[in-house]
Amino acid sequence: MDTNSAASRLSFDTGAGGQSQAVSVSVSDGSAAPASLLLPVPVEAAQSGSATLGDDHFAFKLQTASHSERGTSDALLSAPLSAEVLQRRLPSHFACDACQEVIIDSSGTKTYRALPSQHWEELIDAWMCHDDQEINVSVTRGREGMEEGRRIADGDAWVADALIAWPGACASAGSLRMESRPTSSDASQPLWDLHCAACGVALGYAAPNLELGQPSSPEPPALQDASVRLHKRALLPITESVATACPSLFPILAANELYQLSQAHAARHFVVEEEDTGRPRAMLWLFLASCQLSLSPTPRLSRILHASSPDESGHVVLTASKVFFRDLTADEVAEHHEQRQQGSVGGATAVPWSMPAAVERLTYPARSCAALLEALAAANACYPPSRRCFGPWSVSFLEAVSPAWT
Ligand SMILES: [Zn+2]
Repeated sequence: MDTNSAASRLSFDTGAGGQSQAVSVSVSDGSAAPASLLLPVPVEAAQSGSATLGDDHFAFKLQTASHSERGTSDALLSAPLSAEVLQRRLPSHFACDACQEVIIDSSGTKTYRALPSQHWEELIDAWMCHDDQEINVSVTRGREGMEEGRRIADGDAWVADALIAWPGACASAGSLRMESRPTSSDASQPLWDLHCAACGVALGYAAPNLELGQPSSPEPPALQDASVRLHKRALLPITESVATACPSLFPILAANELYQLSQAHAARHFVVEEEDTGRPRAMLWLFLASCQLSLSPTPRLSRILHASSPDESGHVVLTASKVFFRDLTADEVAEHHEQRQQGSVGGATAVPWSMPAAVERLTYPARSCAALLEALAAANACYPPSRRCFGPWSVSFLEAVSPAWT
């Protein structure tokens, strides 16, 4: 097909009146009915012209309405399941993300209290310079919340970046299995790993209440005498108005973790690593933390998206992080193993790789690594084949905002 003549055959038009969030695309010779496309953001009216045509896609540029910078900047993202959102929506239960069995009865939880960001120690100096009494009180409370073994009052839950903690009595009967955790030298008290009794997935851990004194028995504590601290990525919130659980929040939580790490450590490249084995799974490149996308999702992608279509068109507008991913090269895998053997891949800080920029580690259970790569692959498949790669990288995105839980 001759590209020039083809380009003249496809035209776009945003219509004459006011701002618009739709564009009409039509074939000049009238051989097909015009199609209306939902745009990710409103655009100025009265824009029209010819689209350029690739082998498997067409492209045109539009001026967005006013001076909106949406779509081009790293807008501030906030992670789902924050204390504020949980306080507003008061989920009645939480289910296991892997098997959807109910594990927490939160119907009695009336107050969700925010703990400081996990990067809080990096920010603490800035906070403590501040003369604001409220901030100082909140820092003190935050310190208390970070202490393992502090009893959580009935009716309260504590919300950190990655965890939510409840009094152990909130665990649904028989839903959690406790296993002893190898004690590390710096542990001031034993912690107990918690697994879903139904499917065995690791959910978090239990900390015995220290006000009862140091446990003398090697037996696990009764849940009533402990707090349970569960990973947000392992949880699905359920409200009474929504009978079934939403899709997994994990890809959204992962997008927000990429963003938080990029802000805290100025990192853009990440290696995804399996928690138990240390096996590196993929490299990620956070290309753009926040942008608006409008797309017509494949059934594969629809199953994991939280954003839904506003109309009959089936188009979905979502806030996404643009993320590229690729397999590690043999050299990178070898280097990764070498660093692990030398013990230099141990901390949560940046690892000096033989890469142009420092690479941050993202460590998840194998199941979560697989879910993250599936989400990226499903999003990659939405692009026209000719636009799916950027050099060695696969072009993709992660939904970054849950309309209900962010
Ligand atoms: Zn489960």
